[in-house]
Amino acid sequence: MESTEQQRTPLDFLGELRRTHSCGQLRAADAGQRVLVMGWVHRRRDLGGVVFIHLRDRDGVTQIVFHEDVAADVHAKAETLRPEYVMGVEGVVAKRSPETINATIATGEVEVVAEKVWIFNESRVPPFPLDEFTEIAEDTRLKYRYVDLRRPQMQRNIILRSRVAFAVREYLYSQGFHEIETPFMTKSTPEGARDFLVPSRMSPGMFYALPQSPQIFKQLLMVSGFEKYFQIVRCFRDEDLRADRQYEFTQIDMEMSFPQPERVFEAVEGMLSRVFETAGSPIPTPFPRLTYAQAMRSYGSDKPDLRIPAFHCVEDLFTGAGLATDGLPLVAIHIPNTGAPSRKERDELKAYGQERGLRVFDDAKRLDRDYPEQMSKVRERTGAGENDLLLLAGWPGEPQGHRPEETVLQACGNLRLEAARKYADKHKLFEGKSFQWLWVVDFPMFEWDEEEKRWNAAHHPFTSVHDEDLDALVNNPARCRAKSYDVVLNGTEIGSGSIRIHRRDIQAKVFSALGLSDEEARMKFGFLLDALEYGAPPHGGIALGLDRLVMILAGEKSIREVIPFPKTARGTDLMCDAPSPPSPKALRDLGIQVKPASK
Ligand code: ASP
Repeated sequence: MESTEQQRTPLDFLGELRRTHSCGQLRAADAGQRVLVMGWVHRRRDLGGVVFIHLRDRDGVTQIVFHEDVAADVHAKAETLRPEYVMGVEGVVAKRSPETINATIATGEVEVVAEKVWIFNESRVPPFPLDEFTEIAEDTRLKYRYVDLRRPQMQRNIILRSRVAFAVREYLYSQGFHEIETPFMTKSTPEGARDFLVPSRMSPGMFYALPQSPQIFKQLLMVSGFEKYFQIVRCFRDEDLRADRQYEFTQIDMEMSFPQPERVFEAVEGMLSRVFETAGSPIPTPFPRLTYAQAMRSYGSDKPDLRIPAFHCVEDLFTGAGLATDGLPLVAIHIPNTGAPSRKERDELKAYGQERGLRVFDDAKRLDRDYPEQMSKVRERTGAGENDLLLLAGWPGEPQGHRPEETVLQACGNLRLEAARKYADKHKLFEGKSFQWLWVVDFPMFEWDEEEKRWNAAHHPFTSVHDEDLDALVNNPARCRAKSYDVVLNGTEIGSGSIRIHRRDIQAKVFSALGLSDEEARMKFGFLLDALEYGAPPHGGIALGLDRLVMILAGEKSIREVIPFPKTARGTDLMCDAPSPPSPKALRDLGIQVKPASK
């Protein structure tokens, strides 16, 4: 885009000019007032002797009218205005005649009759229209993000984000939390992703890691006696990007001393209800609580979407029937009011289940015929009627994994979601502002890593094990439950936390269950192990994803819509052109040589 396409306008200085009103403020009652407003030219209509401008600032839009016969020089200047020029206007507020009232804008009953005009800056033709209606390619939006952010929807989203952050701070301060910063240039934190490394000039060959979370530091702050900490903090994780993931993202990070999980839940529920109230959608508290085991048995998921009915395990009704492998779950999935499913819908669901190892019984009528007694009990249990979708699904093969029951339940959970998605439009399942929160508690302590053939921490290695499962740490890691919890909204995990280990001896046991030698543990977390020996109090906390939270509140599908300057799905910043090659001098100073990228 070349700027030569427009002739240069003589520009004015701001000088001592000061706005009297914003562009969203004026009403009929202001008629007759002399005002000075400033903003961007949103739209311009030139009717010859009269020019109309819609002047926009972050607050709204006001119509300005330039009459040739009121002020010819001002009118002449208005003729040079183009979209996105930045200007100021002084004039008198006038009521519009009834037939020209614009009900679509808050200031639509009035206009400002211009007497003086200042043009502070021109603009090239914007790369896309700044309205609510035009579909714009995301790459173009991200390249011209500073223009994109002017669009009303983006203004709303980013301002909502700011209000949410304010509500969080306000609430947590009121509850005695302190906001304390932790370092960005630090040592690796174990949250399961790759680190971003920062080379050190002063210590050649050495690197800092950007924090994947402030986990260890917030624990140290508890050892230091601050008792209630929070931070709205950027975290960095080098992992594949998705619609709800960015390399750098923001957490509401919290930690408390002497808490039971319920104390953490109270603090979080209070904070979230303040946030949702701020956003105009109050939510009831307390949230329901489900153990991980219950969530798996009822939803086949550790982040169940409660907007969709639970499924039911019915293997007890079909013992010996040969529908699925004995000893593993047989699940009845029920989606109400679908109408009779078509052949095609049934085939698709069956294929979906089969791809995940399930055997799907999609013909409810046939099941009713073949197993009348059992099916009447299934219908009783699920409440499924004639007009509903009812499927049975089970595992036909050998048990799989270290917790085979879970493998089956998870596959059924996915089938349940797929079935619900199919009919979502029909029953408006995912529409509207329905916020279904819950806590999932008591996750397994460990997850089996099939590639590495060892146990990994399901949350992170600083998570406490259940007091009564301490022995299982060594004897039966698969059955060991953690004092960990997630807060889930509409099937999305919003936050995750735990009661931590505050004793050196237990921390050492967990490291050893994770296959970490004493030496490795010292090297990675020596400072934490030391700190645990200096009077570490019982403590615990949580971190909630701010980006996801705001995304859901804004009704958006991608966190990029609520982050002012996000990276693309390919991890690049199209506006600043990052990442980019460093200068040879910077590399020399750091003592780094870069090999040509291998293809
Ligand atoms: N550090 C954890 C995370 O980033 C949260 C926590 O346990 O508080 O997921």
